[in-house]
Amino acid sequence: MLMLKDPSLLRTQAYINGSWVETGQAFPVENPATGEVIATVADAGIDGTRAAIDAAHAAQPGWAALTGKERAAVLRRFHDLIVANADDLAAILTAEMGKPLPEAKGEILYGASFIEWFAEEAKRVYGDVIPGHQRDKRIVVIKQPVGVVGSITPWNFPNAMIARKLAPALAVGCTFVARPSELTPLSALALAVLAERAGVPAGVFNVVPSLDAAGVGAELCASPKVAKITFTGSTRVGKILMRQCADTVKKLSLELGGNAPFVVFDDADLDAAVDGALIAKFRNAGQTCICANRIYVQAGVYDAFAEKLHAKLASLKLGNGFEPGVTTGPLINEAAVAKVERHLRDAVEKGAAVVAGGRRSNLGRTFFEPTLITGVTQEMAVAREETFGPLAPLVKFDTEDEAVAMCNASEFGLAGYLFSRDLARVWRVAERMETGMVGINTGLISTEVAPFGGVKQSGLGREGSKYGCDDYLELKYLCLGGI
Ligand code: ADP
Repeated sequence: MLMLKDPSLLRTQAYINGSWVETGQAFPVENPATGEVIATVADAGIDGTRAAIDAAHAAQPGWAALTGKERAAVLRRFHDLIVANADDLAAILTAEMGKPLPEAKGEILYGASFIEWFAEEAKRVYGDVIPGHQRDKRIVVIKQPVGVVGSITPWNFPNAMIARKLAPALAVGCTFVARPSELTPLSALALAVLAERAGVPAGVFNVVPSLDAAGVGAELCASPKVAKITFTGSTRVGKILMRQCADTVKKLSLELGGNAPFVVFDDADLDAAVDGALIAKFRNAGQTCICANRIYVQAGVYDAFAEKLHAKLASLKLGNGFEPGVTTGPLINEAAVAKVERHLRDAVEKGAAVVAGGRRSNLGRTFFEPTLITGVTQEMAVAREETFGPLAPLVKFDTEDEAVAMCNASEFGLAGYLFSRDLARVWRVAERMETGMVGINTGLISTEVAPFGGVKQSGLGREGSKYGCDDYLELKYLCLGGI
C-alpha cells in the first residue's frame, strides 16, 4: 500500500467546479511494476467533461479580471505547496507510472518550476504601442487570454506535462479542463488538491479522469466554449484532434512524437558523448518524446563509442522504482514491451547485433533489459519509428552530410543531439537539423526557461520560456481615431 505523509493527496474523485465528485462509474489504476491496483478512480465521462467545461467557462471572466500580480500570488502558493509535498507527489507518481522515485521527485520539481516561472510571467504580459498610420490615429495592441483550455496529456510525465500547460494558461487568465491519461490520473488529481489549497478558485482548474479518451477528446474539441486544445501525445492522436478542432477553428498546441537523432562525430569528447547518450536514451526507461531514438556514430569512433556505452550500461539498475538504487523502472505496460521486442526482432533479422541486454528481464511482465545493438541501418524500424523503450541502436556514418541527411530523413522533428568539439561543425549541423530543439554536447535539455516544442509532424507551439504564454494569448489591436 502507498504510504504518504499526507494521505489526503491521494484522491480518487473527479475534480469539477471546485468539488470532488463521484460519478457512478470508476476504473482501476495499476502499478506497472507489479500489476497491483493502487486505486479506483471516478470516470467523469462525457457528462462530467461537459460540466467541467461549463464551470471553466463560467469561471473564466472572473479569473481573467484579477491582476497578473493576484494570479501570480495564487500560482506562487501552488508552487510552494507542490515543493513542500514533493515526496508524496513523487510516491504517487512512481506508484502509477513506474519511474524510479528520485526521477519522479525530479519530475515533480520540474513541473513546479513551470508554475514558478509562469507565476513570474503573469505580471509581464505586455502589449505594444504602434505609431499610428494616420495623423489622427493611435494604435495599441493588448494581449488577452484565449479563454477555456482543454488539455489532454500522456502517462510518461503525469505531473509535468500538465504543469507546463496549466501554468501559462492560469498565469494569463485562462481556465483549464485537464483530461489526464487514464493510466496516470492520480498525479493530476493530487495537483488539483494542492491547487485548491493554494486558492485557485472553483472552476478555474478541473480534472476529468476517464477511460473514454476518444469521447472526452471529441467533447473538448467540439465544444464552442473551449477556445483551445493543448495536447501532448502521439502524432496519430494529434492528427485526430487537429481534424476535430477544424469545425470550431480552435487554437491548438501539439507536442507530438519524436524520433530524436543523436550524432557523435569523430572529434567529440567520447566520454561526454557516452554520458549524454546514457541519459538521453535511458532516462525514464526510454519513455520520453525527446529520448535519443537513433544514435549515429562516425566511423572513426564507432567501435570505441560502442565499447564505452556497453561498459556504462553496467551502471544502470533495473527494478521497481521504489527500490533504492534503481535507475531504470518498468515500461508502462506489456504493449510497450512488445513494441521494443518488435523493433529489436526487426533489427536483428536485418543484420544488427545485440551487444547487451536484448530480452525481457526475469523481474517479469513490464521489465526489459537495457539493450545496445550495433550494425543498425536506416531501413530498420528502430531508426524510423519511436521505440519508447530502453533500446539503443548504433548506426555508423562517414561524412557530416550523410549524418545530416539521415537525421532529417524523418517526418518527426522534436529534439536532436550532437556531440562535437569543432565549433563550426556544431553551428552547421545544429542549423541544418530539422528539429525544434538541439542538445549540443549534452543529453539533457528540458528546462522551464527554454522553449520546448517540435517542427514537422512533431507539433505546433512551444511550452516554457518567455514564449510559453503566447500559445494562451490572443492579440487584440485597438485603433483609436479622431485624435
Ligand atoms: P502515448 O503513446 O504517449 O500514450 P497517445 O496519443 O496514445 O500517446 O496518448 C496521449 C493521450 O491521449 C492519452 O491521455 C490518451 O488517453 C489520449 N488519447 C488517446 N486517444 C485519444 C483520442 N482519440 N482523442 C483524445 N485523446 C486520446
